[in-house]
Amino acid sequence: EALDRIQALEPKLHSFLHVTAERALEQAREVDAKIAAGEEIGMLAGIPIGIKDNMCTKGIPTTCASRILENFVPPYESTVTQKLADADAVMVGKTNLDEFAMGGSTETSAYHLTANPWDLSRVPGGSSGGSAAAVAAEECVVSIGSDTGGSIRQPASFCGVVGMKPTYGLVSRYGLVAFASSLDQIGPFGRSVEDTAILLQAIAGHDPKDSTSLKVEIPNYAASLKPDLKAKGKLRIGIIKETFGEGLDSQVEQAVNKAIEQLQHLGAEIDVVSCPRFRYGLPSYYIIAPCEASANLARYDGVKYGLRAPDADNLLSMYTRTRATGFGAEVKRRIMIGTYALSAGYYDAFYLKAQKVRTLIKEDFENAFQQFDVLVCPTAPSTAFKAAEKTTDPLSMYLVDLMTIPVNLAGLPGLSVPCGFDNNGLPIGLQLISNVLREDQLFQVAYAYE
Ligand code: GLN
Repeated sequence: EALDRIQALEPKLHSFLHVTAERALEQAREVDAKIAAGEEIGMLAGIPIGIKDNMCTKGIPTTCASRILENFVPPYESTVTQKLADADAVMVGKTNLDEFAMGGSTETSAYHLTANPWDLSRVPGGSSGGSAAAVAAEECVVSIGSDTGGSIRQPASFCGVVGMKPTYGLVSRYGLVAFASSLDQIGPFGRSVEDTAILLQAIAGHDPKDSTSLKVEIPNYAASLKPDLKAKGKLRIGIIKETFGEGLDSQVEQAVNKAIEQLQHLGAEIDVVSCPRFRYGLPSYYIIAPCEASANLARYDGVKYGLRAPDADNLLSMYTRTRATGFGAEVKRRIMIGTYALSAGYYDAFYLKAQKVRTLIKEDFENAFQQFDVLVCPTAPSTAFKAAEKTTDPLSMYLVDLMTIPVNLAGLPGLSVPCGFDNNGLPIGLQLISNVLREDQLFQVAYAYE
């Protein structure tokens, strides 16, 4: 059914870069065989799932939506996709993204645009736009994305689905193609909070292959979901003051305020909290992320992976020709910003300063969590915008992640849950943020609200 739906909708949506129909049917038959033989089946048995195309899948192309990885077929499997296969999930394909996950609309993909299922003339958000659109359009039941500065939560908000970024280190990054290693985190998309919680359960956990992976017990997230917040004693929810005001779409503001009222009815104690350094998140992120990206992307030299430009007469010209033709404009921009900010004389002024600001933002969150269990704000300042509306103005595109970026800088978990529609019928997202490793609280609040 999922494959039929994909075949019917892909000509309009383009959520996928590769549909892995044969492998999906093979996996599904294996599950059938297990059931027929009376064997135990995994927690995701037979569930069709989409995987963002920046996670390595053995024998299946992994392009990061970049020309430079056009011919790359990984010789190994990422930990997350291995865990999903072990849980008997059925991968239906690799989903579209902004090139190397750099962007907020999936428009920097070197291959094609993905449409927002609610309005085909609009973007699905990004960078995990393909994963969000595929779940929203029911091309698969759940999907996996990655979130460096908002790339799961913002497209979830634009496409009207649930998306969550776990605590940094909760999910292994082994086999996730690196963008900004200190910020990247893999997470789940679903049409319900419960589906999202179950999917996180399947992919979380310590992995010796990722040195930043946390050694912690994974709670049963789905088991503790309840219809209200009363049974838990008074849950304290803080509204982040700085996310309201100038730049916030008034219809988004209304929907978020209504959702907050609803949380109060459900039994939460609500008050306003100030995170005064929150607004420095965006400028520090756009130093730190490009710096890390410029180091990570140095590996695409025309030798080890994918594309090699022809007709080079020496090593240096092979590098430069390969990169000039293989990388798109946004990726080049990030490499240049990062290389500049890391160079001698500028390192202290830009990179070091940005890292100090990162610590201050973390402190704001720490202070807020002294008084509150969960923080709440809009996921994005607006609903989905029209395709091509922001592509000529990178700064306006960067502003889309104003409210999600601080969460990555602090390594915290964040979740976006749908909270209504604007007058154009476009979905609006509510962002919930909790303290480190309190994913359980995020799911509880989101579930009661949903
Ligand atoms: N839109 C942000 C960027 O372009 C975040 C991307 C992401 O989370 N992968 O860097």
